[in-house]
Amino acid sequence: NMKLRLDKYLADMGTGTRSEVKKAVAKGQVTVNREVVKKPETKIDTEKDTVCCQGMIVGYTEYEYYMLNKPSGVVSATEDKRDRTVVDLIESKRRKDLFPVGRLDKDTEGLLLITNDGALAHRLLSPKKHVDKVYYAEVSGKVTKEDVDAFAGGLDIGEEQKTLPGKLEILESDEISRIELTIQEGKFHQVKRMFQAVDKEVVYLKRIRMGPLLLDETLAAGEYRELTKEEIAQLC
Ligand code: URA
Repeated sequence: NMKLRLDKYLADMGTGTRSEVKKAVAKGQVTVNREVVKKPETKIDTEKDTVCCQGMIVGYTEYEYYMLNKPSGVVSATEDKRDRTVVDLIESKRRKDLFPVGRLDKDTEGLLLITNDGALAHRLLSPKKHVDKVYYAEVSGKVTKEDVDAFAGGLDIGEEQKTLPGKLEILESDEISRIELTIQEGKFHQVKRMFQAVDKEVVYLKRIRMGPLLLDETLAAGEYRELTKEEIAQLC
């Protein structure tokens, strides 16, 4: 079981800042197993002890996992001077240490996992793991069989090495084509640069899958939900 100080326990769960929490404890507003506790350093067993602050039970969660359908116009960062961030959109969060697993461009929409589980993030982002990322895109100009072959052979996007093969599927080839692309890398602007390499421009981009995790299509852009137990198990 995990044991931690009462003031850290409460601050981790978003009850207040460390000093606000200490004041609440000193005022006798916090109980542990129904007894008022006035020492902020009291050790709490996160599994066994029941902590109440101002009459409300405060349960402890070490890790939080949210699936966000990122809207355009929001940046994939934890803090930004000018723009709203993807973490700002998670209003029901308890923990303050959430971050997005990987980045989507400001104008890209779709699946973003927001968590504070650093080990999981590392597993999903490590280049060695070759985790599939699937994107839906709208591209100006007719996407052709030649493009499919070029993507399959890897593309020169101006880096030292060609990209790994990308699996390009044409959903509709027209003035604006609709495609799905599966890649295992996550280089800066990678999808946009892969289409630039075949003289086409991505006009709309949305991530729909990352490893085993599928974007829940009932989430409108800007909406989020917690991952289910099954989804978390698939990722771990
Ligand atoms: N590729 C891009 O070009 N942009 C993204 O946001 C993600 C992948």
